[in-house]
Amino acid sequence: MVPSRKNMNRVPVADNSPAHTDTKDSGSGPLAFSRAFPGVIRIEPSSLCTLRCLHCPTGTVKFSRGVMDAGTFARILENIRVNIHNIRVVVLYHGGEPFLNKEFLTMVRKIKDSGVPHIKTDTNGTLLNLNLIQQICESGLDEIVFSLDGTSFEQNDTIRRGCDGRRVSENIKKLAEYKRTNGFAKPDIFIATTQFLEKCKKIGDQLPAIPQYLHDFFADEITRRDLSFRTTFAMKWPDLNMDEELFEVICDSEGPQIRNFCDDIISTITIRWNGDIVPCCYDLTSKMVMGNLLKEDIGTVWNNKKYLRLRKGIYEKKFCPLCDSCNIVKPRRFLLLKEPLKNWLNKGMIKNMEIDPETITGEET
Ligand code: SF4
Ligand code: SF4
Repeated sequence: MVPSRKNMNRVPVADNSPAHTDTKDSGSGPLAFSRAFPGVIRIEPSSLCTLRCLHCPTGTVKFSRGVMDAGTFARILENIRVNIHNIRVVVLYHGGEPFLNKEFLTMVRKIKDSGVPHIKTDTNGTLLNLNLIQQICESGLDEIVFSLDGTSFEQNDTIRRGCDGRRVSENIKKLAEYKRTNGFAKPDIFIATTQFLEKCKKIGDQLPAIPQYLHDFFADEITRRDLSFRTTFAMKWPDLNMDEELFEVICDSEGPQIRNFCDDIISTITIRWNGDIVPCCYDLTSKMVMGNLLKEDIGTVWNNKKYLRLRKGIYEKKFCPLCDSCNIVKPRRFLLLKEPLKNWLNKGMIKNMEIDPETITGEET
């Protein structure tokens, strides 16, 4: 997965005004910032990851990691069932590789059985094999998004430390073929690709093109409409432990002035592997824990004092430290490649990049 893909995961909603309140207090008091039960539930099956990508907090920061246990998931399922009429989407992904949770597909089936209309996940694809492909198609998963970055497989494997992009791509082809030949309508398959912005005068709303190597590799699948692409530029995420020798940051201070509003705080709740609830996909290291699902229901946390304060701060543009460094409500900050990394990428010098084996093997840190 790529950090920017988390952005692609956002499920926008229309309500962007504190006047859209579901309480009797429609003034400027704290209750004016309470909201109806969220329509999008993000669940983190695993915060462990098989990769250590250079442009991602998960890949560059050490923090406590783990896999969601059965008890925590059962609590989530209870909450989903009670609030099923409010829920439109469940995203089974936050900050790691979801398939590291051996119960992942059981989770999908149980959520599907509870009546959730759309279930999606993001994966780096490193664990995909024929057995898993078959189970994914039978699970009821609606959407699966794979990440492949850069302008060549060599670039992908350098940035996405530990990845074999060609192998992942071959397995994506096998998934598309298995789905097609066995008549499965789902999951919809996407490839999310993160590219690096070149220095330019005006960034505006430009998006990168699909890189040629992916276009070529998946030419047949594109023709058959077996899969689609989503492209984005790499951004500086809050808490990214950025190697300043490899990256620089360019701030889009003249960018579109539509970024004063955050829809996560009215549409989406995010539950980490250990039950902690955090405000959004930007909080990959639990900087701002709003509550814990093992102690309180989702609905209670969703309108607790911390959430009311968070919403008030965003509406009044008095941002907490997490929001103050966020690309949604502040000018976007893009990651640019510096010369050493550019050279390594061009030469495919992936052996220069060291990987911390602790994280690769999924040890809690
Ligand atoms: S694969 Fe892991 S390290 Fe790489 S971007 Fe995704 S979560 Fe981050
Ligand atoms: S960091 Fe703050 S503004 Fe940004 S998405 Fe999260 S809650 Fe919204």
